[in-house]
Amino acid sequence: MPENEELWYTIFATGHPELVKQHRLHTRLPAPPRCKLCLVPFKGPGGFVMGLRGRRPSNRNPRYCSKCDQFIRAFPGGAEVEMSMIFADVRGSTPLSESISATELSRRMNQYYAAVTHILVDTDGFIIDVVGDEVVGLYPPGFSGPHHAERALEAAQRLVALDPTECGLPFGVGVHTGVVHIGTVMGADEGIADVRAIGMEVNTVARLGSSAGAGEALVSDATWKAVREAPDGVEHRELMLKGRSEPFGVRVVRGPTAVAANAK
Ligand SMILES: [Zn+2]
Repeated sequence: MPENEELWYTIFATGHPELVKQHRLHTRLPAPPRCKLCLVPFKGPGGFVMGLRGRRPSNRNPRYCSKCDQFIRAFPGGAEVEMSMIFADVRGSTPLSESISATELSRRMNQYYAAVTHILVDTDGFIIDVVGDEVVGLYPPGFSGPHHAERALEAAQRLVALDPTECGLPFGVGVHTGVVHIGTVMGADEGIADVRAIGMEVNTVARLGSSAGAGEALVSDATWKAVREAPDGVEHRELMLKGRSEPFGVRVVRGPTAVAANAK
């Protein structure tokens, strides 16, 4: 058995009792940003109190508290876990960057990151990362609960309902549910250690995110089937995705602005 597989499977698939207890406690304390693993707050009164208890951002790895950073280094490894995933991807940032100043683009990007991240956190998404134009959120059952597909769909519905003038930039959304390998990755010289999801299903959700129109979410059939009471009358579409030989079925969830974009 690969190193620490059972431990990481417990953390992400079923929920480690100790970590689940910490999540309950820490999410009651303000304020974000939080440690990516134990959700201890780094700012606000909660951050101050927990800082006194040694739960400060790790120097080497400031997105984790020093205790979780130590934990990741002490128990490297990972496991295959079925989870839901979401990718938000900006539409038309290259032409936009030619028409507005770099400062204005940066302001709008930050507005977009904040708006999207807020919704992912609010729907119990975890391991939220920003990669270029993309915001990526994972919904492992051990963190987000057994109804992770519903939480991810709810996030997608709220994301496409955002007003583009309030969230800075137009973007598309992909949602998918599948088995991925989630585990630790070590940076050069033991510097940054992180937890990442890797696998074909991760590539798939990224492709859905980049294929979606502005204000549109492409939700895979796998996610749709996992949702207990999926809404009726939502358009079904089949896509040819790179890396898949068969047509890939999705539901198309549209926000109010997607309609306007299509009408142009
Ligand atoms: Zn932590």
